[in-house]
Amino acid sequence: MNPIQLVDLRTQYLKIKDEVDAAVLNVMESTAFINGPEVQSFASELSTYLNVKHVIPCANGTDALQIALMAIGAKPGDEILTPSFTYIATAEVIALLQLTPVFVEVDTNTFTIDIDDAKAKITSKTKAIIPVHLYGQCANMDEVMALASKADIYVIEDTAQAIGSDFTSKTGKKQKAGCIGHIGTTSFFPSKNLGCYGDGGAMMTNDDDLANQLKMIANHGQRIKYHHDIIGCNSRLDSIQAAVLRIKLKHLEEYTKARNEAATFYNDAFKEIEEITTPFIAAYSNHGYHQYTIKLTGVNRDEMQSYLNENGVPANIYYPVPVHLQKGYTEYGSKAGDMPKTEGLTSQVLSLPMHTELSKEQLEYIVEHVIRFIKG
Ligand SMILES: *Cc1c(COP(=O)(O)O)cnc(C)c1O
Repeated sequence: MNPIQLVDLRTQYLKIKDEVDAAVLNVMESTAFINGPEVQSFASELSTYLNVKHVIPCANGTDALQIALMAIGAKPGDEILTPSFTYIATAEVIALLQLTPVFVEVDTNTFTIDIDDAKAKITSKTKAIIPVHLYGQCANMDEVMALASKADIYVIEDTAQAIGSDFTSKTGKKQKAGCIGHIGTTSFFPSKNLGCYGDGGAMMTNDDDLANQLKMIANHGQRIKYHHDIIGCNSRLDSIQAAVLRIKLKHLEEYTKARNEAATFYNDAFKEIEEITTPFIAAYSNHGYHQYTIKLTGVNRDEMQSYLNENGVPANIYYPVPVHLQKGYTEYGSKAGDMPKTEGLTSQVLSLPMHTELSKEQLEYIVEHVIRFIKG
């Protein structure tokens, strides 16, 4: 059996090596390293796949969030609702722009934004809400959109973990994650479901005006070269990464299927284990399983993680500390006990190896060790 990895990018690469190597060499030959035709083609292919009007590539998923907040015209003093149970980037860009993050609880089943808590925290200063489609499953966008429209605020979907996931609304309408709110943002970090071989990101929108703003901000605030209408930044996807992404996009559905098969294997194996709660399956979203995250009850999670790691099963905690309790964020005035649901989850969750290349033998080995730790 090959050693088990949290993410196995090498095996995946070897399967598409010929195609990727040729595409990368082709960019080198062309020397169109920045904003070359590969970038335009990728943006257009991704917008077709997502069925969204505009895809604006940028340098990474954190920039995508920052540019989105700039594009909606958020100003210091404006409040932005964000779940506390997320990767730091979501809150970081809010703080960086001198906006005020307002931390919201998550639903303990879905790990996504708790709409009642969000509702309770809306004030006259609220400018936007950022639902995070954590671990690969969509937040309940029917609820988010209804709340946002009533409060007249923007919706920016952080889709870094859920590219390709489908949200099905109450009306039966199916849309891709990131294409429902005003702006969607995503990351092509290598370990994401659609990952490149370096850094990359993108913003999605169906709104022409927002698309223009996003494009301009990502490109030094210019529409015409050397004419800077607004203050922007420098954030671009490079052509080599775009060339890799064009190839990997063609495999995304197959990758999602492989992740779902691994998840089904885990779900079946853990069915009778009452200490384990397997991922909740929402009626309104399918799951991209960026992470396969279980919740543990009556088990010492940290000891279990050590046991698994010692036995060749990498297992990780996303995320051990909620944002509202991070040292760098104390100025926003939160303290332990403020968000019992989120804080509870941080001591309960454990993510098992999840990627596109898990073999049956590896899955059996992982499951055996998980169960052995619990049952002895
Ligand atoms: C990865 C990630 C980001 C940031 O993406 P980068 O490309 O690493 O900047 C933002 N939000 C979430 C939820 C993520 O998982």
